[in-house]
Amino acid sequence: MARRKQIYEGKAKVLFEGPEPGTLVQYFKDDATAFNNKKRGTITGKGVLNNRISEYLMTKLGEIGVPTHFVRRLNMREQLVREVEIIPLEVVVRNVAAGGLSQRFGIPEGTALPRTIVEYCYKNDELGDPMVSEEHITAFGWATIQDLDEMISLTLRINDFLTGLFLGIGIRLVDFKIEFGRLWTGDDMQIVLADEISPDSCRLWDVKTNEKMDKDRFRRDLGNVEEAYQEVARRLGILPEGGPRDLKGPNTLQ
Ligand code: UDP
Repeated sequence: MARRKQIYEGKAKVLFEGPEPGTLVQYFKDDATAFNNKKRGTITGKGVLNNRISEYLMTKLGEIGVPTHFVRRLNMREQLVREVEIIPLEVVVRNVAAGGLSQRFGIPEGTALPRTIVEYCYKNDELGDPMVSEEHITAFGWATIQDLDEMISLTLRINDFLTGLFLGIGIRLVDFKIEFGRLWTGDDMQIVLADEISPDSCRLWDVKTNEKMDKDRFRRDLGNVEEAYQEVARRLGILPEGGPRDLKGPNTLQ
């Protein structure tokens, strides 16, 4: 018997119908993709670690008043979240030049930016997630000006908080991507942080050595990918007790 109805399967996660109306179960896979799906692979234990890391970060953000879709972690690879209407934008926050920004503007990776830069991409794999401006976003109706105001204000709070949190464990938050959703309660709508925050969606560099502790290790074939994700969890103080042994997860859904 199928455990529950699958709603959506993405590159790194699967969404199932939740136990109550208005909820979903978010299942974290070990699958990794990069360069718009051109590179594919598996990072053993990634799903377990990202489930924990995202739980931890969303909980901490919730504690400072950032509304999120996160309800609670259910098991090693699953968390209960509120069902939201995803705003089809990737909000990218940059503190230090890296990746796409370095390429576009010829700025060496690692250059501190004069101020935090927020960019938007339209979530559409077929189009390769093109970068868009507020003009496109409002003209095409993906979000209103009010939605954008709320998203930017939340984004800057999230960046300030996470920058400090990671710095406290010797990690520089170079850049990251977040997504927002609309949470409806009757006619009331609230914009909440959705999706995940994990080394899949952040660039995290060791403060002392500049060593990369994120998905760039997979993208750029740097090796020790699993170890880097584990080190992030270890420094956050949330490495599963059984250590790497615990990271395989149920076979049924892999
Ligand atoms: N990012 C992401 N998903 C995407 C694109 C980017 O999570 O589809 C994250 C990426 O991990 C990095 C930040 O957003 O932390 C900025 O990524 P960039 O635009 O430099 O993209 P790249 O071309 O390097 O993936």
